[in-house]
Amino acid sequence: MIRKLCAARDCDELALEGAARCADHEAAGKRSRDAAQQAAKARTPVAEWSKLYKTKAWREGAPAFLKKHTI
Ligand SMILES: [Zn+2]
Repeated sequence: MIRKLCAARDCDELALEGAARCADHEAAGKRSRDAAQQAAKARTPVAEWSKLYKTKAWREGAPAFLKKHTI
């Protein structure tokens, strides 16, 4: 069976059977997909958390807090 070259840029490895990329790049692709899924999951809590910035207490308290804790 003729195997294709890895589809990743500048990679000279042979692709895995039935896959478009070599073992290294298949693993790398899976990792980045996992990371994207993690980021998608993490997005919900961040959106909840960002509501804090819209509260009255934050708007009134933040300037004083930032004045005391200047970076
Ligand atoms: Zn590769």
